[in-house]
Amino acid sequence: MRERIRITVFCVYVLCLFSFIMFSLNKSDNKVMSTVNPVNKNEFVIIVDAGHGGSDGGAVASDGTFESVLNLQIANKLNDVLSAVGFNTYMTRTDDNSIGDSSSTIRSEKVSDIHKRMDIMNSFENCIFVSVHQNFYPGVSSWGTQVFYSGNNNESELIARSVQLSVSDLIQNDNKRTVKKSGSEIYLLYRAEKPAILVECGFMSNKNELEKLKNDTYQKEIAYSITNGIINYLTEKDVLYGF
Ligand SMILES: [Zn+2]
Repeated sequence: MRERIRITVFCVYVLCLFSFIMFSLNKSDNKVMSTVNPVNKNEFVIIVDAGHGGSDGGAVASDGTFESVLNLQIANKLNDVLSAVGFNTYMTRTDDNSIGDSSSTIRSEKVSDIHKRMDIMNSFENCIFVSVHQNFYPGVSSWGTQVFYSGNNNESELIARSVQLSVSDLIQNDNKRTVKKSGSEIYLLYRAEKPAILVECGFMSNKNELEKLKNDTYQKEIAYSITNGIINYLTEKDVLYGF
């Protein structure tokens, strides 16, 4: 009986939290709320990294959609949800520009951009780094979110597992993908010294999934699912901040 009451209370809590977040997000529709929050570098912070930007658009869909644009839209929503539930956040970029030093070549700007993102990660003592990307594979049937993690920190895999499970449970029940340790192809995770994951939200090469990834409501659902996964991880670690 007591267990049933606990479960009921928990369900009501989750419903209230979800309603509050959706209400907050709907209120903020069509305006950019995400700013680089001034946070104390010693406080716990979740770094939201919108992949690519500027001359590096990332993958390009058959309809001309750039990955960098979807990454920023979803990262902005993730930042909003995380902030709404009380986390300190920091965004590596808040507009469509690269954060690298503009220089004579696209390549050197890209190198500078990735180093600056790494510097941001290293500048926080107590943080989780969450990079937002979209996948692309020539086989048009591939679909579903997949989370990659840094092999340099034990916590990274736990966070990745929690986020992968949350996305599957909440919005992709048929997603059987599993988390994957990043190799040197993902520089930021390969070199990360802090807990770090990269979320490939979906496949831009799949027309159905691309339409979803471009959809405002679906982007919010992805943002909520990632946040829920992080909360579950922190709850299990018993270090939940911001409540
Ligand atoms: Zn990417």
